[in-house]
Amino acid sequence: MVTDPYLQKAVKTKRIIGHIKGDHPGPTLVFFGGIHGNEQSGVIALEHVFQELNDSPLSCKGSAYGIRGNIPALMKGKRFLEKDLNRIWTHSKIKNINGKTNAEHSVEDKELVAIHKVISGILENEKGPFYFIDFHTTSSKTLPFVTINDALINRRFAKLFPVPIILGIEEYLEGPLLSYINEKGYVALGFESGQHSEEMSIKNSIAFTWLTMAFSGFLNKTDVGKFKDYYGQLQKSADYNSNFYEIEYRHHLNDIRDFKMMDGFRSFETVVEGTPLALEKENLIKAEKDTIIFMPLYQEQGEEGFFLIRKTPSWALILSGFLRRTNFGALLHILPGVSWANKQKQSLLVNTKVAHFFTKPFFHLLGYRNRVLDKTHFAMNNRELTAKNEMYRNTWWYRITTNKSI
Ligand SMILES: [Zn+2]
Repeated sequence: MVTDPYLQKAVKTKRIIGHIKGDHPGPTLVFFGGIHGNEQSGVIALEHVFQELNDSPLSCKGSAYGIRGNIPALMKGKRFLEKDLNRIWTHSKIKNINGKTNAEHSVEDKELVAIHKVISGILENEKGPFYFIDFHTTSSKTLPFVTINDALINRRFAKLFPVPIILGIEEYLEGPLLSYINEKGYVALGFESGQHSEEMSIKNSIAFTWLTMAFSGFLNKTDVGKFKDYYGQLQKSADYNSNFYEIEYRHHLNDIRDFKMMDGFRSFETVVEGTPLALEKENLIKAEKDTIIFMPLYQEQGEEGFFLIRKTPSWALILSGFLRRTNFGALLHILPGVSWANKQKQSLLVNTKVAHFFTKPFFHLLGYRNRVLDKTHFAMNNRELTAKNEMYRNTWWYRITTNKSI
């Protein structure tokens, strides 16, 4: 036990919260907490779990890391100090940051460089299958939920957890850490455990960590003494909701000072047409139809005012699973107005003037998610083409779902 306050502080600013290397080969688990500095629950949860594993070691297979995110922002309890650390993980931004000198780096540039180095080291020295988990919390009340980039490996692993799953958030956010990991083809789940300050958010992250360790085979399920309790806790906390949802709309903020969310909304709350949602300058923003509100913003920092979501019907999940397994999406470039955007053939360029008959849901089914380039073109990235399915093919959770459902 560390009692010296200076030492304690030194411990709290260490990048690595914990690392456990098992005696047998197995998966590599990488957990991040506090990529947003005002979201401490994940850090506290990881400290707790790694401490418990250190105090009473279990037989482990593979390797597990807990990584602290934005340390300077965590120390100040702020989302970020100069720029959002979870919006700068694009290849061009990373290249740009690496090209700058240390003196030119912003606070978050430095954090990116340090975390990037840790990730590269792990990928170089450890063996797969790799699992990346990123812990967050929200400013509003919410059910705990998982966010994933829409690749089948992510869907299948995420489905093991008894909480709602949000697909396609990558279309709306630029440069989150997990999109960077996903582009490398690994399983990557974001877990939003609840509201920032709630104790339940810590408990949910602790439960999620143990379940990940069991589901990935890092620990034997039977060795996780409270497995059933953890599972039950997440189930209850999520109101027994484990549906898939799609983002339908993102309310982007140009200036957060112009925006005020109406009080009292919680994520996953159903609202009827005409409900006032927010005030922006002098405009009252109302729901244009019956919808579900998601991540309403109740804090001073952020780029999104709120999102609207809809439940993904199971037929769409099943059909898209089938189409992706048959690799139908790889044929789209022969269609008029559609061409490969890069040599690696991971991205499609769509001319909307020519290919206007293809709607977004059509591309979604095949695993493509888009980013708008200009008025007449958008680029579609296919998570399936980059996903390292081979790496996960022999895991129990990949195999059980191969011939059915998603
Ligand atoms: Zn966050």
